[in-house]
Amino acid sequence: MKEIVLDKVIRQVGNRTDGVIRFGQKADGSHFEIPVIIIKGNKTGPTLLADGATHGDETEGTEAILRIAKDYEKGDFAGTFVGVPALNMEAFNLVRRASLTDGFNLNRIFPGNKDTYITHRLAAVYTERVLSTIDAAICFHGGGDVLHLEPLCGYMPDGECGEKAKAMAEAFNAGYVWHISNLPFGGMTAHVCVDMGIPCVIPEVGSHCSRLHNRQRDIQTCYQGIKNIMISMGMLDEKAPERVKQIVMELHYLHAYNGGIQTPVRQPGEIVEKGETLCVMQDMFGNQIEEMKAPWRGVVIGFWSVPVIHPGDWWSLYGKILD
Ligand SMILES: [Zn+2]
Repeated sequence: MKEIVLDKVIRQVGNRTDGVIRFGQKADGSHFEIPVIIIKGNKTGPTLLADGATHGDETEGTEAILRIAKDYEKGDFAGTFVGVPALNMEAFNLVRRASLTDGFNLNRIFPGNKDTYITHRLAAVYTERVLSTIDAAICFHGGGDVLHLEPLCGYMPDGECGEKAKAMAEAFNAGYVWHISNLPFGGMTAHVCVDMGIPCVIPEVGSHCSRLHNRQRDIQTCYQGIKNIMISMGMLDEKAPERVKQIVMELHYLHAYNGGIQTPVRQPGEIVEKGETLCVMQDMFGNQIEEMKAPWRGVVIGFWSVPVIHPGDWWSLYGKILD
């Protein structure tokens, strides 16, 4: 099996190696880098990747990866754990969703291209040097700074690895399982994983809304989710916690037509009947200018969580219940 080659080792103690993969030198001599933690387990087994902050403002997975790395750095598991706490380090540094240098959203351009823009190069280098070495992937996302989402774990049902991905998503044990078959865009890390035959799940956990009171709870959800997947893959010899009752759904991003001051009128997790109001919007004179109605009976997974919304932004994150 191919192994990850680091360009610089920062620290190597026992089973754990921390280091970076470099993918471009800047004018000041510093480098664009991917931070990588590699922990070799004491027994043979699969290689599991967990990465966070593909979107730089989605940091719950980041903190969970660091916690897993600390707790399991002695290698008390089977296989290899690869942790990438912040894949888009530039965006993470700046608490931004997308890259600053070229403006690209990293999770729309996989598998990237080494010969063009720097974010495309990041995607290509990551695909070639990290994704090609793993057996399964957990790609953490969340609500970041403009959305609220209830904890969910998405999986790519496509390809030969779809069943494995489904088992991983269920094992993650969030309240909602997202069967991802309706995305209006491609280019995610998960898409290239499917092409490479790697089962991949996408947890969406936490947001700026819940960080005030529930930051540690959300990190714990991500941490326990990684452990649950490790148990399900035979990497950890621990007893899995009892499964919560999970709702399987297809998440739909319903867009606002106008911009203005928006207000969600339903609670996360609420079941809404077809035609009932999900959110309303007013203009700068206080007149209601738009109302989002439920297109079918479904569940409120989340919403745009800051008052100001632009024309065309995601407004309601609405789940179509599948079972
Ligand atoms: Zn994201």
